[in-house]
Amino acid sequence: MPDSTAVISCNNLRKSFGSLEVLKGVTSQIHKGDVVSVIGPSGCGKTTFIRCLNRLETITSGQLEVMGMDMSSSKVSQTALRTMRSKVNMVFQHFNLFPHLTVLENLMLAPRKVLKHPDSECKDRAMYYLDKVGLSAKADFYPDQLSGGQKQRVAIARSLCMKPEVILFDEPTSALDPELVGEVLEVMRKMAEAGMTMVVVTHEMQFASEVANRVFFFNQGVIEEDGDPKVVFNNPKSDRLKAFLSRIN
Ligand code: ADP
Repeated sequence: MPDSTAVISCNNLRKSFGSLEVLKGVTSQIHKGDVVSVIGPSGCGKTTFIRCLNRLETITSGQLEVMGMDMSSSKVSQTALRTMRSKVNMVFQHFNLFPHLTVLENLMLAPRKVLKHPDSECKDRAMYYLDKVGLSAKADFYPDQLSGGQKQRVAIARSLCMKPEVILFDEPTSALDPELVGEVLEVMRKMAEAGMTMVVVTHEMQFASEVANRVFFFNQGVIEEDGDPKVVFNNPKSDRLKAFLSRIN
């Protein structure tokens, strides 16, 4: 259940790439325990939005506060960015595992390098989270020996190894064969049930309606609707959301 602590807060967030303004004034607060699905037509700024939230993109204007830290300025130090990103992690569409490292080494890397934890602790933690995603037996495998679904579960375990406060997911199942989507969504469902704060760019409407407690409908660079999925999906206010829902249903 979400509480009232805002872990991410943005106010009139704008982002341009050259002359293309992608985010046109996004204002929202994400609370501890929220599971937010970010939906909307292709190209409307969903990925750009979540990449701004952990500052993989700089922000053109507006305010962004993450875990109580002001992240608005492009001059935020690398140290502050690293600290923030260890708390607000990203899971990518294409997994971004290091191909030359084993699964276990992939999981141990950031806790060792960024958090400076001792090897034994990193290994214990890695094995714990590999077990959580059902992949203990694959610890010594290399990523290219795994299916897409397994790779994404490893990427999720890698994120969990940082003990983040928030995980951002950028279309985590879009690169998977349809039969592998379910195993990844199941891991995400369990994380949501365990109280993890999650922001998920997704086309999986079943996840959005059953697992998320909030949905952001993005359109043309703004959040056009924000609310409980049951309300937003059953009673869309804007014509654009109605059209979007009729296209995907
Ligand atoms: P969505 O996730 O909703 O499909 P994106 O946030 O990926 O949308 O993209 C929104 C728009 O921003 C698109 O027109 C895309 O081409 C553009 N865009 C995204 N990233 C960049 C970039 N690094 N440089 C230039 N344009 C970009």
